[in-house]
Amino acid sequence: MAGQAGSFKLMKSLNRALILQTIRESEPISRSEIAKRTKLTPPTVTNIVNELLEEELVLESKVGSSNGGRKPIMLTIHADSRYTIGVDVGVKKIRLSLMNMNARIDQTKRVEMPERLTNDTFLSLLETSIEDFLEEIGAYKDSVIGVGIAMHGIVDATSGESIHAPTLKLRHVPIKASLEAALSLPVFVENDAKAMALGEKWFGAGKDYSSFISVNIGEGVGAGVVIRDKLWSGATGLAGEIGHTVLHPDGPTCSCGRKGCLQAFVSGEALRLQAAQAPEESALKKIKEADGAAVYEAAKSGDDFSQRVLREAGKYLGLGLVNIVHFMNPKLVIIGGGVAKAEEYLEAPMKQVLGERALTEDAGETEVVFSPLGEKAALIGAGTLVLSHLFHYEQAGKL
Ligand SMILES: [Zn+2]
Repeated sequence: MAGQAGSFKLMKSLNRALILQTIRESEPISRSEIAKRTKLTPPTVTNIVNELLEEELVLESKVGSSNGGRKPIMLTIHADSRYTIGVDVGVKKIRLSLMNMNARIDQTKRVEMPERLTNDTFLSLLETSIEDFLEEIGAYKDSVIGVGIAMHGIVDATSGESIHAPTLKLRHVPIKASLEAALSLPVFVENDAKAMALGEKWFGAGKDYSSFISVNIGEGVGAGVVIRDKLWSGATGLAGEIGHTVLHPDGPTCSCGRKGCLQAFVSGEALRLQAAQAPEESALKKIKEADGAAVYEAAKSGDDFSQRVLREAGKYLGLGLVNIVHFMNPKLVIIGGGVAKAEEYLEAPMKQVLGERALTEDAGETEVVFSPLGEKAALIGAGTLVLSHLFHYEQAGKL
């Protein structure tokens, strides 16, 4: 098992990352097949694979098929040999998870977010939450290779800084620098919707697509754009902020302070504001401070008003999709996040609007699916941030 001090070193070799990635994508796979695909020499592959076997990152598994001759020994990733800590920083809570290399989440923790925060109190809350969680996971602690943080708002993924987290009213928070100093573990930070897109690419609906868009509808609305297997950040990290594209210049006020953003029509916050306006006969009237989840529960138990609110949100989501489809023409759009749980009410109106407004028949039939990762999508995405640095050739080279 690699100790924490060894973690940085673990991620350094490009060839190792390339071989690990090749095994992950094609396991079970033989040494000679790895050499063929990576164009590395057989002795290089053998040396590195021996190292990986010694470090228990890779396992020799069942014997592969062969037409006569010696049957090759096959290699697989030893998914339980290393773990990541995934942290989803929301508006009201921080969620933490312990994840193996196959995106299996073994333990979680939730920490409430206080109302008012400064950069310093936020960083110390984050640090204490992760330190407490590392204690709680006991013996697993030594197998943790890094921490991935899915943070809402604008993030500079290279420096690991939160540039602007509008709902927490924070700017320029040096998350990576601060946590790496405190935890002695590699820390990776990314916008939450982008982290989710990465999780979808590795473990979810985006697995077989090299380009797609994943839309996160939670307290806020954002998207991760994957182009040719890579996350697209834009010039200054803003790419994918579709929650603040405008559907109606005089529409409801968004959390960003401007009017009529997509987010102001479909987010959890938008549902909560509408629940507060519920008529007397609605079941929501009996619930104190009904939120998006309450609207969904009420809809399921037959509340007419709640069903209408969700179908209406579905229509606006459809308008958001119309804009995405005309601008990017993606092959696949994945819808995830807390609000996406109300799939049964959102889907039909959403697809109807897309069909009606798309310029071509093909565009109207763009594949739109709800995330198979469900509520775990952000946590899996956060954990995958770490895995992507362990496995990915190009990113590992930057460490
Ligand atoms: Zn906005």
